[in-house]
Amino acid sequence: MPSASLTTTCCIAGGGPAGMMLGFLLARAGVKVTVLEKHADFLRDFRGDTIHPSTLELMHELGLLDEFLKLPHSRVERLSGQIGDTTIHLADFTHLPTHCKFIALMPQWDFLDFLSVQGKRYPAFDLHMRTEATELIEEGGRVVGVKAKSPDGEFDIRADLVVGCDGRHSTVRERAGFAVENLGAPMDILWFRISRREGDTAETFGHMEAGMMMVMLNRNDYWQCAYVIPKGGIDRVKAKGFPAFLDSIAFMSPFLRDRLGEVKGWDDVKLLTVAVDRLPRWHKPGLLCIGDAAHAMSPIGGVGINLAIQDAVAAANILAAPLKQGRVTEALLDAVQARRTMPMRVIQWLQLQIQNRVLSPVLGTAKRPKPPVAAMFFNWFPPLRRIPARLIGLGVRPEHVRTPEARP
Ligand SMILES: Cc1cc2nc3c(=O)[nH]c(=O)nc-3n(C[C@H](O)[C@H](O)[C@H](O)COP(=O)(O)OP(=O)(O)OC[C@H]3O[C@@H](n4cnc5c(N)ncnc54)[C@H](O)[C@@H]3O)c2cc1C
Repeated sequence: MPSASLTTTCCIAGGGPAGMMLGFLLARAGVKVTVLEKHADFLRDFRGDTIHPSTLELMHELGLLDEFLKLPHSRVERLSGQIGDTTIHLADFTHLPTHCKFIALMPQWDFLDFLSVQGKRYPAFDLHMRTEATELIEEGGRVVGVKAKSPDGEFDIRADLVVGCDGRHSTVRERAGFAVENLGAPMDILWFRISRREGDTAETFGHMEAGMMMVMLNRNDYWQCAYVIPKGGIDRVKAKGFPAFLDSIAFMSPFLRDRLGEVKGWDDVKLLTVAVDRLPRWHKPGLLCIGDAAHAMSPIGGVGINLAIQDAVAAANILAAPLKQGRVTEALLDAVQARRTMPMRVIQWLQLQIQNRVLSPVLGTAKRPKPPVAAMFFNWFPPLRRIPARLIGLGVRPEHVRTPEARP
């Protein structure tokens, strides 16, 4: 049974990529940190399984890369997409200036478990699973902690700094009353998996046809499939019937026809709603939001996890020493936002361009789509594929670990 009140230096609400990375880095630097995760484990519906070259580079900087790569994963070195009957070779990661020239596809729970095991090596790391941050505690115009709920009851956590890492439906940002700028997303996503067999292509790829799009991620023994539908369109898809849904999958990827029976009904298909938004202000005295809680990312390019982790590294670099010395000011919280705003805005801008110029027209047309001429340049001039690879693989202004390791 937790005591009615607990005191820490930094309380992190949310044990996703942002929260676990920040918790690990702060504890590694000797800052007393308490991470709250409302679920019992890291296992849940799909929320992105991509570990980008920039994150793998951080693992290298932390001396953890070899151990990390022992976890089961598949490697994506190139990305391609089919628009109508034309295949576009979009990104080639093999020239990146990093130790790993690929995206690792790894179940996110393995990645988060790994960070949790690494965090627990440090006495300053305190992870509470099945514990939800429900309210902020404010005194004299400053956030001084959170109220938390666990199966053992409710308790308060007092902290010098609270960091909201609780994702795109963030309770923390809502309780803080932060304004949210909604940038809109024209699509939702239906997820399902289907077995991968010998003779299937090895590539991770996307395919666009009139009114539909599907992305297939190679997960070694299965395909993780993302079927993109217009925003709020799930009832229309269901109204056409399940056999019609399976037919459209077979149309997009004919080689799946012999195993479509594995997807037995709507229960095997999960709806994930897409949001793209950002906070004009990520902080107030005693409180900072990072990751999706500060800027929900579209799944386009699969970069949200990467950005969340980069935010965590920047926050740890800027805040670890002041947290240890008990002198975190709002100017420092603002410095975190200032450092991460440009990279986040550039990527959100690119995602919106793709949403509005490519996805929306494709989802709204009955005519077989043709690729924009600009996309053909990637086929004609292969070195151009290094540009999307850099943006997706490293992002803009990649962060590096600057925090020292305190003795475990
Ligand atoms: C359909 C879809 C597909 C995507 N695919 C990819 C992809 O392939 N690659 C990619 O990089 N990005 C992808 N993204 C984006 C990516 O999921 C997010 O950008 C990323 O997970 C953000 O990380 P985070 O740590 O900020 O938040 P989250 O991953 O959302 O983690 C938040 C955590 O906080 C916990 N939590 C929530 N509320 C509370 C609370 N009150 N108290 C305690 N804990 C709480 C949650 O359980 C969760 O564990 C996708 C997004 C969508 C919608």
